[in-house]
Amino acid sequence: MTIDGTPTLLGIPFDGQSSYLRGAGDAPAKIREALGCDASNHWTETGVDLGAAGMYGDAGDLVFSEKNAFAAIEAGVAALVESEKRPVSLGGDHSITFPIVKAVSRRYPELTIFHFDAHPDLYEEFEGNRLSHACPFARIMEGGLAKRLVQVGIRTMNRHQREQAKRYGVEVIEMRGLPAYERLKAKGPVYITFDMDVLDPAFAPGISHREPGGMSVREAIANLHAIESEIVGADLVEYNPVRDISGITATVAAKILKEILGKMISA
Ligand code: MN
Ligand code: MN
Repeated sequence: MTIDGTPTLLGIPFDGQSSYLRGAGDAPAKIREALGCDASNHWTETGVDLGAAGMYGDAGDLVFSEKNAFAAIEAGVAALVESEKRPVSLGGDHSITFPIVKAVSRRYPELTIFHFDAHPDLYEEFEGNRLSHACPFARIMEGGLAKRLVQVGIRTMNRHQREQAKRYGVEVIEMRGLPAYERLKAKGPVYITFDMDVLDPAFAPGISHREPGGMSVREAIANLHAIESEIVGADLVEYNPVRDISGITATVAAKILKEILGKMISA
């Protein structure tokens, strides 16, 4: 399979399914600003010049009301996929990955998802809500939207979520089990979902759920670089500007985004 659609940014300013703090809805503009900041150049570490014409596109921010957010997100991502673009969505809280993957999996039903997160987000429901940002991967696996779900950097497993992982056949690489680069290879199309809280809050304090013991920025980049597959889409979620300190987490988010785009262009 050759995947050659232009990676295209899509801002999804939505934090309506956050269980603890709002704020992630303001992230897309801040990440774009950091990405364009003149403090750094446009080259990825892997040698891709993101400043060259046509390397990636930007479809702007989705506009929707909170009430019909999921339908709008699914439709917005589907429109990109149908026009031969590869969606790179900027959240937003992690609940958005469910409608995004719904759209992507229609085109690529044999999807492998590499999910970077401190949390497995596998709750059957959270505080009575099945669409919470604590639940998207239960919905994705329940709906048969991915062939494989590989979670990386997890460090908040409880009994219920371990049971859910077993029930849905989720491959969990816990933070304490890293490095595990050889497990980041997959056959067929790959989707990357990157929750900023996979990083240690010392490196990325601008998140809602600070969970110490996470990845350094360097470890996260090393894991992204280890992915050897054709990447058909990605998202970067849970950056919360309200909790940031002097914009450092926006800079980190932009760096992660750059390396993901670089891998999409030349895996
Ligand atoms: Mn998450
Ligand atoms: Mn998380």
